[in-house]
Amino acid sequence: MTSKAKDNLHILFFPFMAGGHIIPTLDLAKAFATHGVTTTILTTPSYSPLVQRTINHYSGQLPIHLSLISFPTTISGLPSGCDSVTSLNSQHERIIFLCSLSSLCQPFKRALTELRPDCIITDMFFPWTSAVARELQIPRLVFQSESFFSLCMTDSLLRYKPHLMISDDVDESFILPGLPHPIKMSKSQILDPTKITPEFSELFSLMGESAAESYGVVVNSFLELEPEYAKHYREFIGRRAWHVGPVSLCSQRVGDDDDASKDHYTECLKWLDSKKPGSVVYVCFGSMFSMPSEQLTELAIGLEACEHPFIWVVIRMKGGDHEEKKVRVLEGGKGVVINGWAPQLVILNHPAVGAFITHCGWNSTMESICAGVPMITWPLFGDQFYNERFIVDVLKVGVEVGVKKYVVDEEEMELVKGEDVKKAVERMMGDGDEKESMRRRLRELGEMAWKAVEEGGSSYVDLKNLIKDLCEVCSEHDMNQSKQ
Ligand code: UDP
Repeated sequence: MTSKAKDNLHILFFPFMAGGHIIPTLDLAKAFATHGVTTTILTTPSYSPLVQRTINHYSGQLPIHLSLISFPTTISGLPSGCDSVTSLNSQHERIIFLCSLSSLCQPFKRALTELRPDCIITDMFFPWTSAVARELQIPRLVFQSESFFSLCMTDSLLRYKPHLMISDDVDESFILPGLPHPIKMSKSQILDPTKITPEFSELFSLMGESAAESYGVVVNSFLELEPEYAKHYREFIGRRAWHVGPVSLCSQRVGDDDDASKDHYTECLKWLDSKKPGSVVYVCFGSMFSMPSEQLTELAIGLEACEHPFIWVVIRMKGGDHEEKKVRVLEGGKGVVINGWAPQLVILNHPAVGAFITHCGWNSTMESICAGVPMITWPLFGDQFYNERFIVDVLKVGVEVGVKKYVVDEEEMELVKGEDVKKAVERMMGDGDEKESMRRRLRELGEMAWKAVEEGGSSYVDLKNLIKDLCEVCSEHDMNQSKQ
């Protein structure tokens, strides 16, 4: 059978409307487009400027297109007109938003009927796209914004339920069975199903089922980073998967090019240039979480008590866009506070940055690894507690700030004291073998990451394999369609 030519392949990407999902999806689309595949990003109006900037940047060079989808109605319990996480104010609202995504099902079906892609790569948070794809006989792949490690951790928890044998939620730990390393967690660090709504719990089961029935899973990781877990996922769990990351290395962050970010960029670089190599602590908790005031105060106390200069990104969301997009240099040059969106890749890759206080989002984790910056881990929710274990226990490139509790509601969030922040920063920034060996490992991992995406590297080859598989499967589909 002759397979479809890759220049004739059209893939539609449908990312969840949050920075941590849209950004790597854009990077992924760019990687496909570099191989000649036509790509369309389907998203809601609030993220269209970011996608459009990327398209304009590569205009005439790469086949990337934008298509818009809108929620049919305003979602009850959320700010009016909300169509992405940027306008949400709390964990509670984020959960309502996640549970309401299936209302996009009919508009999504209409978009597919109109755009007629050969194949779709949709977010893990859109399990219902599987049924639409099946109905329209289009192969669906899932884009996991998670590591193989965390996918294996989730499987172990669901399969063996080790946490059910534990009585003390916080102080007793359990080992996750069946994994390549003896990874320990406490019950308070995983999502407690009794504390979430039935709709949210249902969403998680649907996500698992739909990933299992999809054509396969695309993972933003590289083989050399987690070989045992990639093998475990493919061979033991038995899912078809392609590792194509780190996708951030395939891309220039065009999204940072808006006017506000340009000012941040210039101010940050000027300030960073004035600092000694490896002396600055970068603090950022991702694209969607805003900390309660009490925690912000403790963090400020901790950072000010340390000897080290810092850049701290404070994303405060109040019913709309990221507010007060500005950069403030503190008196005496001790720190820079960014209210709003920071040029994270630029900051992490600056030689002055010596440590990253991170919420352990998977993109931030990969970006820190690629930039060779050791991490101080402060997970909040989702896969972040798994990523903390991966960073600290498996890769040994970070130290914990010491959080024990998964955040379901930020009002009940455990308070990390300023002195604990100071302790972790001093441990990480002090001299000694621990820090040196972390840096050495990070240098090696960073080199492996670059090699993985270069021509002939493991992720480059897996992406090519994926394109080849899709060309075959789509031409089979075309033949079946023409017979009908
Ligand atoms: N990011 C950024 N500037 C910010 C905050 C976040 O560029 O001020 C980017 C960061 O580089 C990463 C993504 O947003 O690519 C966040 O993804 P991650 O998985 O780390 O966390 P999430 O936002 O999904 O919690």
